[in-house]
Order: sequence, then structure tokens, then C-alpha cells
Amino acid sequence: MKNTNICPKCQSKDIIRIEGTAEPYGVGNNIRAGATIFSAVLVNRYLCCDCGYSEEWIDKDDIPKLKKKYCK
Ligand SMILES: [Zn+2]
Repeated sequence: MKNTNICPKCQSKDIIRIEGTAEPYGVGNNIRAGATIFSAVLVNRYLCCDCGYSEEWIDKDDIPKLKKKYCK
């Protein structure tokens, strides 16, 4: 969906990208990767406007941060 811009459920091309945000107090679409909001990893969402299916993607650059925190 991120790469094809086509909904895998209904084959619609009406896809919008919703940028992740990191705001104070943990508001926004993100995952904490540390003690402060400055280390939050943003989650970008792709939404099909026809059926409502959505996918969430994290930037590849941010994956090591999450691995460090969540992989023990
Ligand atoms: Zn769809």
C-alpha cells in the first residue's frame, strides 16, 4: 500500500498518507523509544478513503531505536 498506492482490500487508488506526529504529553501517532518526547518514533499511516483500511509504517531509520528499546 505504501509502495503501490493501491488498497490491498478493495483495490482503490484513493489512498492518503497521514504523517505521524510527536507532541508534548505523548499526543500524536508515535511510539516512545526513550524517556522523552524527543526520542519518539513517528508512525506514518496510509488510509484507504474507500473502505477505511489503514496501514502503519515506521521510517527505516527509526527501527534501530525501537529494536534497542523493545528487543531484549
Ligand atoms: Zn480500500
